[in-house]
Amino acid sequence: MTDASRLPGPFEHAWGWQLDAACRGADSRLFFPPVGRSERARREREASAKRLCAECPVQLACRRYALEARESYGVWGGLTEDERFADTGRRPRRRRTG
Ligand code: SF4
Repeated sequence: MTDASRLPGPFEHAWGWQLDAACRGADSRLFFPPVGRSERARREREASAKRLCAECPVQLACRRYALEARESYGVWGGLTEDERFADTGRRPRRRRTG
């Protein structure tokens, strides 16, 4: 679960980077794979999301936000939840997939 105490607060300068996000209007299922899909399908969606992130002008701001907020789910800043938590010694709770 995202640690809400670590969110930056309701300030435009903290969230304004989202206005330039390459994923604005994209299918959110690429970034947050639906529950009940196969592992292969999840990996394919993550790869598609990462391709979009690689072209995104705010990738670093997005990644910084996700790391600071400890976003537990989805692809943020080109990193999956497993990648974001890799050096913390703890794993995010993954929703079960089929
Ligand atoms: S880095 Fe990826 S998830 Fe973050 S704003 Fe850009 S496209 Fe969206």
